[in-house]
Amino acid sequence: MQQIITGIIASPGIKIGKAYVYHGTNLIIPKYTVEPDQVDHELDRYRQTLEKTKADIKAIQEQISRSLSRDMADIFSSHLMVLEDPMIAEKVVRNIRENRRNVEWVINDISMELIQSLSSIEDVYLRERIVDISDIHKRLINNLQKTSAPSLPSLDKEVILFSADLTPSDTAMMNKKYVLAFVTDTGGRTSHTAIMARALEIPAIVGTINGTSMVKDGQMVIVDALHGKIIIEPTDVQIDEYTRYQEDLLLLDAELAKLTHLPAATLDNEVCHIYGNIEIPEEMKMMKEHGAQGIGLYRSEFLFLDRALPDEDKQYVAYKKVLEFFSPMPVTIRTLDVGGDKIYAYNKTVRERNPFLGCRAIRFSLENESLFRTQLRAILRASVYGNTRLMFPMISTVEEIIKSRNILYETMDDLRKEKKEFDADMPIGIMIEVPSAAINADRLAAHSDFFSVGTNDLVQYTIAVDRLSEKIAYLYNPLNLSVLRLLKHIVDVSAKYEIPLSICGEMAGEPRYTVPLLGLGFRNFSMGTAFMYQTKRIIRSVNINECEDVVEEMMKLDVTEEIEKLLLDYLGRKFPTMLF
Ligand code: PEP
Ligand code: MG
Repeated sequence: MQQIITGIIASPGIKIGKAYVYHGTNLIIPKYTVEPDQVDHELDRYRQTLEKTKADIKAIQEQISRSLSRDMADIFSSHLMVLEDPMIAEKVVRNIRENRRNVEWVINDISMELIQSLSSIEDVYLRERIVDISDIHKRLINNLQKTSAPSLPSLDKEVILFSADLTPSDTAMMNKKYVLAFVTDTGGRTSHTAIMARALEIPAIVGTINGTSMVKDGQMVIVDALHGKIIIEPTDVQIDEYTRYQEDLLLLDAELAKLTHLPAATLDNEVCHIYGNIEIPEEMKMMKEHGAQGIGLYRSEFLFLDRALPDEDKQYVAYKKVLEFFSPMPVTIRTLDVGGDKIYAYNKTVRERNPFLGCRAIRFSLENESLFRTQLRAILRASVYGNTRLMFPMISTVEEIIKSRNILYETMDDLRKEKKEFDADMPIGIMIEVPSAAINADRLAAHSDFFSVGTNDLVQYTIAVDRLSEKIAYLYNPLNLSVLRLLKHIVDVSAKYEIPLSICGEMAGEPRYTVPLLGLGFRNFSMGTAFMYQTKRIIRSVNINECEDVVEEMMKLDVTEEIEKLLLDYLGRKFPTMLF
């Protein structure tokens, strides 16, 4: 019977093939106590294993360095950091000495403790580190038992791989020839496994929760990692439809060279721009290859995932790399946007009742001023290497932008005193992602060099629907009239006050919204690579008048479902070969 599973797109693409369910190797943890005179021997076993594991990881790093890039290999540096963490080492040694337990037992307990404490954290970024810990855990145990590390068996035919989870090393070692795509129950977009999949260009859907248990070996599946769904046992019609879609995509790829260099202008010559959203510098190459005209949103959160906060130099190096790469194209660096739950992780203060309504994004930076100043220093110092734009997230009041700007100016003064160079004229903008900011956009305009609309949050806060909640996901719809009206208002205000405007939420990169966004007046879009070509193709096939008419008709309706139907009917007629 046909089943559809949904998940998070970790790496875009579409693949059709037979499922292969990978169960990994079950770890067997021997647990015993050792005689007092064996304690030293046990400590030796621990030290030798630690060295061997570090050497293994360095070997993997070298291999990835050769096959992918140095940057990708760096992902494993955090594994080395855990192995070299003196506090963990001391805990292991103390446990072996005091409890006279064998190393496997102790390592297992400590790993489980770490995993347990990470799983209780609500922040998805930090929770995704669990898979890194279990990767290291497996490696240590296997080395202790002198068994080989569990890795994907040597596949000899093309499969769609399903697994409860995949470690970053599993992914890095995957044979791209045979693994057409993969699907995991756990993980998110920013897990190291997901990043690795994007670098390898293997389509992947993660976080399906129970996807693996729903599929059997050999079953036919379609992985639609453009819309985040997996169709198990598709009908022949669906296979045909997706095959055509795949061919269409291939065709688009073939047109790539032409399309990449063609302007994103409408038939009536209204010039638009397509920028990229990135989380890590490693994604920038692919962005450029897809024709991104710069970076509209560089989410700096990813730098803050490791156990230690990144210092000024580490941040400076990362920002400089992206700026240099895109220069003279613009790169919009957004200051840290972490949720209230992240404060818990860093400061161990009380957890908030409503993290999304709590000390998030700019509020967190203003609360943690020294961390904020460090980030601003790093961005300012890097700014001389390219066309830098600085952006503050989740501005909800005029006071916040004034305060943030003042801190920025003080930081500039500090750098001047230190005779350090920076671009004093870089544009300073804000995200419009909270209804209060949208409503007061005219007042915020006086303090902003540009606006970028974050629809992911704007939809969440306007409709009061948690963007991560499965249960009320039906409410989360950017075509809700209230959202369309707010968007229209933002466009009108930006035009009146001549504030450059762009849109960088997921809505900007989903082909079904391109026409209404054009009709509302948006011209600058920032998105992931998944639909960049399609967006450009749509832009190049429409007249603005037509888009304005469509959105006008949509906004006459009240019910979101009807608005959506009107739009999809239009798109079906206009672009019969595309799936929306
Ligand atoms: C948004 O809210 O639309 C946005 C782009 O920011 P983030 O998804 O990082 O919250
Ligand atoms: Mg946001």
